[in-house]
Amino acid sequence: MPADHDASAQTSLDMIIARKETSIDVVNVRQFIYNGREEWRRKEKIVEIVSKDPVFDKSKREWMTRTEKYTRGLRMTNRIHELEQLLGWSKQDATIATSLLDDPLPISLHVTAFEPVFLLQASQELLDKYAGVIASRGIFGCYLQTELGHGSNVAALETTASYIPQTKEFEIHSPTLTSNKWWIGALGKTATHGVVQAQLILPGGVDMGPHLFFVQLRSLDTHELLPGIIAGDIGPKSFHGFAATDNGFARFFHVRIPKEHMLSKFAQVTDDGKYVQPPHAKISYGGMLYIRSGMVTTAGWVTAKAVVIAIRYATVRRQGARGPDGLEKRIITYPSLYIRLLPILARAYVFISLGRALSQSFQIMVQRLSGGDTSLLAEMHATTSGLKILCTTSSVQDVENARRSMGGHGYSAFSGVGRLYADVIPSVTYEGENFVLDQQVVRAALKAFHSLFGTEGKGRPSPSTIRGLTASSYYLRLLSSPSKEPPFLEDGDGSKSSWNDFETLILLLEWRAALLVHEMAQTAHDPDTTLFQRVSRGTTEAFVGRRVGEMINDFRKNSELQESDVAVLSRLYLLYLQTTIESALADFLSFGLLRIRNPFRVRASRDPTRGLRLAIARNCLSLVPEAVGLTDALGFSDWELDSTLGMYDGNVYQALWDKAQTEPLNDKEIPDAYEESIKPMLTRGQQKLTERKWETKL
Ligand SMILES: Cc1cc2nc3c(=O)[nH]c(=O)nc-3n(C[C@H](O)[C@H](O)[C@H](O)COP(=O)(O)OP(=O)(O)OC[C@H]3O[C@@H](n4cnc5c(N)ncnc54)[C@H](O)[C@@H]3O)c2cc1C
Repeated sequence: MPADHDASAQTSLDMIIARKETSIDVVNVRQFIYNGREEWRRKEKIVEIVSKDPVFDKSKREWMTRTEKYTRGLRMTNRIHELEQLLGWSKQDATIATSLLDDPLPISLHVTAFEPVFLLQASQELLDKYAGVIASRGIFGCYLQTELGHGSNVAALETTASYIPQTKEFEIHSPTLTSNKWWIGALGKTATHGVVQAQLILPGGVDMGPHLFFVQLRSLDTHELLPGIIAGDIGPKSFHGFAATDNGFARFFHVRIPKEHMLSKFAQVTDDGKYVQPPHAKISYGGMLYIRSGMVTTAGWVTAKAVVIAIRYATVRRQGARGPDGLEKRIITYPSLYIRLLPILARAYVFISLGRALSQSFQIMVQRLSGGDTSLLAEMHATTSGLKILCTTSSVQDVENARRSMGGHGYSAFSGVGRLYADVIPSVTYEGENFVLDQQVVRAALKAFHSLFGTEGKGRPSPSTIRGLTASSYYLRLLSSPSKEPPFLEDGDGSKSSWNDFETLILLLEWRAALLVHEMAQTAHDPDTTLFQRVSRGTTEAFVGRRVGEMINDFRKNSELQESDVAVLSRLYLLYLQTTIESALADFLSFGLLRIRNPFRVRASRDPTRGLRLAIARNCLSLVPEAVGLTDALGFSDWELDSTLGMYDGNVYQALWDKAQTEPLNDKEIPDAYEESIKPMLTRGQQKLTERKWETKL
């Protein structure tokens, strides 16, 4: 290494060089990922405003107590509402501003859970009375479903809502300790109102199962809890996650609410206490589907943040062997590193695109629902459940893998990735615990299978039934005729390899899903222990595979993208498909789906998976020079990332140094613990030694 080499100055240089290497037009790709120039400009403007406002300063948050984080969270929310009014922001602008804060805030529960559930399920009368004040945030809401004793098993919730015909009221009651509502976001200290999930009890004690009720929790004058309600915060959470959110408990003691406060757009109770059935068994799932579809987008953006930080750091961090320039190699050049990070980048891109498409489908479903058309509900339920599981499970793994890829500095809170991890991990639990939700995906897949092939699973479906298959079960067409066979695969390098062909990869994913569902149908009486998860994942990945094929076709037609942009994006989305197959090779091998025509093994290897693995390695290598461009295209500012390792200019060492100087422990040279503990320990140790020496002399 040259004697005057400055490793810190080199980092900025490395970043400049990396930016020059990329062949994509960052502006074009950024517009593509933001769904057009307008959306990007809108976000950019909001970032500019918010990042300069001292209320949104992030520099001290690592040292804040839980209470300070909660207080800061609400201060920021209040400021966003002020800005909304001052600057004439739309509701969407305010949502963008809130999402930029990367702190899960109590208001999110109002926006993502309380409001959509209320709007979808309240009667017209209740909507007329409250929709306006909910929209203008004149009241704050939360969604009270989970209890201390029950979460996944909603049918077993203990809170009751008993109808009293004499007064036309419901009485909300928590009969036991375990019926305490628990984990409820924004309930602890913030929310004034809530939607409560409770067993509807009709006169005579008939239990109609869980239904939703709109309940005021706190006074709008004093913010005190209303009579008959006790509530509070459930305490800190793992890894200090969700610190700004007051996840809370509540117990109701015979709290009366007017009959109109039952969310009765679908199921109703007549004045004299008779039950009116909803038109569709799952119609009340609407709100949950909204939250789940939003979680796909969020998983994509969280993954994106983590991988942007990790790729930028890997681009400037030098460690290990020296290259021809006499400098240690940049760690991004190590195959063991880029093979970890680039598939994460691919998943971030795919999940962001998927989330957008899903939200659009959700809006269409809502429009149809409002006209009483429930035909899209089952399909939406199947796809959002599967995607929620897939995307949240992946993002939890990917964020942690991104952090680990950065070695020791990745563990510093200043990397910003630990914070992302702490907040993303519960996403696998809330809105349907992923392993429990797997069962619903499997149920939907089996239903589709049996409706096609009969209860025995041996029928021959008509062409019209096959044509009528929905997107979530489209793969089942492959089982419709014995003459249909999985494709033979061309091994080898380059474009001729089947492993570089989108359509083949998508078809393989569909074959795996079809055979897994067939296996499940045949062995449903005695399934092996992982079959549920494999069917759930396999069917969802087949669905996503087809969508990825559509995305590739779409951006090939996108006139705003240049040829080089399309080429790079195609390789990135191809990597998504390749690595999806690689991570499920056990299934592909189990079902004999790797039918290789000209295996590598003829030449050097016995391994039928080698062709795929080589294709992934080569695809990744071709994407290394594009990595920084693709991360820039995700459009995060330094303020948003709040990461010393993800700095746009690559100046990571200076940033780490500067941050370390802000550590309050460094305020005093001699810490308070010196007099109290360090000094006595040192003195004791020195005395012991002197005593021992004295004893030996004796
Ligand atoms: C950060 C956070 C925020 C939350 N916010 C809210 C909120 O605002 N409102 C709200 O109502 N709730 C909220 N929750 C609660 C959340 O919805 C529940 O935690 C979730 O539904 C899981 O329920 P549980 O915790 O009771 O777990 P359990 O259902 O007890 O699950 C425990 C384990 O048992 C397994 N298991 C359970 N049932 C089955 C089964 N039938 N078959 C196989 N395995 C099973 C699960 O896979 C899991 O591993 C929140 C939770 C968290 C962590």
